[in-house]
Amino acid sequence: MRKAYLLFINILFVFTTYGQLKTKEFTHDDTLRGSITPERSWWDLKYYELRVKVNPPEKYISGSTSVYYQVLKPYQTIQIDLQPPLAIDKVTQDGKELSFKKDGKNAYMIALKKKQEKGKRESIVVYYSGNPIVAKRPPWDGGVQWVKDSQGNDYVATSCQGLGASAWWPCKDHMYDECDSMLISITVPENLKDVSNGRLRQVISNSDGTKTFNWFVSNPINNYGINMNVGNYEHFGDTYEGEKGKLTLDYYVLPENIAKAKEQFKQVPMMLKAFEYWFGPYPFYEDGYKLVEVPYLGMEHQSSVTYGNKYKNGYLGRDLSGTGWGMKWDFIIVHESGHEWFANNITYKDIADMWIHESFTNYSENLFTEYYYGKEAGAAYVIGCRKNILNKAPIIGTYNVNSGGSGDMYYKGGNMLHTMRQIVDDDARWRQVLRGLNKTFYHQTVVSKQIEDYVSEKSGKNFSKVFDQYLRDIRIPELEYKIENGKLVYRWSNCIEGFNMPVKVAINQDKTNFIYPTTQWQTLKQEGVTEIKLDENFYVTIKKAE
Ligand SMILES: [Zn+2]
Repeated sequence: MRKAYLLFINILFVFTTYGQLKTKEFTHDDTLRGSITPERSWWDLKYYELRVKVNPPEKYISGSTSVYYQVLKPYQTIQIDLQPPLAIDKVTQDGKELSFKKDGKNAYMIALKKKQEKGKRESIVVYYSGNPIVAKRPPWDGGVQWVKDSQGNDYVATSCQGLGASAWWPCKDHMYDECDSMLISITVPENLKDVSNGRLRQVISNSDGTKTFNWFVSNPINNYGINMNVGNYEHFGDTYEGEKGKLTLDYYVLPENIAKAKEQFKQVPMMLKAFEYWFGPYPFYEDGYKLVEVPYLGMEHQSSVTYGNKYKNGYLGRDLSGTGWGMKWDFIIVHESGHEWFANNITYKDIADMWIHESFTNYSENLFTEYYYGKEAGAAYVIGCRKNILNKAPIIGTYNVNSGGSGDMYYKGGNMLHTMRQIVDDDARWRQVLRGLNKTFYHQTVVSKQIEDYVSEKSGKNFSKVFDQYLRDIRIPELEYKIENGKLVYRWSNCIEGFNMPVKVAINQDKTNFIYPTTQWQTLKQEGVTEIKLDENFYVTIKKAE
C-alpha cells in the first residue's frame, strides 16, 4: 500500500517518523513484535489453518488457528501473538491443554509439555475470541473495518500492514517466517460472502444461519497479505493467457458497481501484460488473481488485491505526478497489483526494509506508463513524483522493533531505481535484473542487502554507495562544477563519503554523455566548454561553484 496521499505523508512524518527519530524510545513490546525472539527462532512455520466466525452486529469474532511447524532446535516455549482486545482462550497440543503466560501487551508464551525434538513436525491449536481492534483509518491505521453498504448489508474488511496480523488472529507475527500454504475458513451470516486469499474450495451452509467459506492458499504468504472481506459480493471472472499459461481472474464487487467494474477492470490484463514483461510471470498462478472491492482505498493482499479507488483513474481521481500520465490508469489496480511481485513474491523480513516493497512498486507505475505510453511518458511520471519527496528522514527504518522508515520509500525510492537504470544504460540488461530478482528471490523473505548486492552484481555496476546515499541518508547529491579556461571541473558534494555515481550531462547543448564524478575535484579533458546541463533522469541537483 502507498502510505498515503501527500497530506497524510506530512502528518505521518511530523507525528511519527520525525518524532521517532528525535524522541521515540522503543519498548519491550516493540522488541517482542519486531525481533526473532528465542521463542520464535526454534521453529519453522509450515502451515496454518485459520478458522474465524464473524459476527457483524456485535463486531465480534471467534475462532482458532492451527499452527503446524517443524522443530529446528529443541525448545519448550512457543511465542504466539494476539493483540487486545482479542484474547487467547485456550491452547492445545495433541488434544492436551497447555498453560501460557503473557509477555507485554501482545505476546503469549506457551509452555509445551511434549518434548520438542529436532526435525519433528508438530502443531498447536490456539483458540481465541473478542472484539478486534477497529480500523481507524484503514489501511494505514488498520484492524477490522465494520461498515454497511448502500443497501444496509454488513460490509467487513481487514487490513493490517505494520500493525500486524495478530490484530485479528493469533499467529507468528513476524515477517521473516511465512507458512508454505494456508487454509482460511471464514464463517459469516448466510446472506453474505467471504472473499479471502487463494482459491475457494468449499462453501458450507450451516444449520445456524451461517455459511462457511473455505479458501486455500497454495503458496507461501506473509502475515499482512492475509485478509478476509465480508460483504454482499457479486462475482464475475475472466482468464488471462500469461507467461506461465492460463491465469484465472476473479472479481468480487458490490452489485451496484458491476457495470463500472466490468469497464474499469479491463486494466487488469493490461497490468499483467506490462508487469510480466518487466518482472516475469505473475508469482501466484496456482492461487489465481483476484480484485476485491472494499470500503477502504486498497491493499496488496496476496492473490486477492483489495480495491477501493471508486472506479476512477489516478489516485482517487488525482494524478500524483502532476504530469497527466497518472490519470491514464487506475492507481490502485496498478500499484497494489505491482506488489504481487515486490511485497508478496519478494517480501521484507523486517519492515525497516519496506523500500523493497514500496520503491519497486512506485517504480512499477513508471514502467507501466512506459509500457503503454512510451519511455518519455514513464520518465516524466517518475520525475513528476519528485515533488512529493521530503528528504527529512532516511528510507530505511530501525531494525528489530517493527519500525518502518520514511514515506520517501515511495517516490524517492522509485527515483533511485530510475536513476540506476540510467547508469546501467542498457534496458535489456536492466529488465533482466528486475526479472532476475523475482526469479532468484521467488517466494522468499529477504533483507535489503540481498537485493542491493543482487542489483549491483547483475547490472555490472557497483551501486553500494548509491544505495547507501539514497536509502540511508537524507541528502541529495549535488553535482558541483566550475568552468575554468574552457574546461569543466566537477565533483559530488552534499553526499556520503566516497560517493561515486556516474551522471549524464550535456555539454554546450550537445547530446548527453557520462561523466564520472567522485567527491574529489576532477577536470574533463574536453576543451571549449561554455555550459553544461544535467540529464534530469538522474535524481541529483546541480550547482555552479563560486
Ligand atoms: Zn504500496
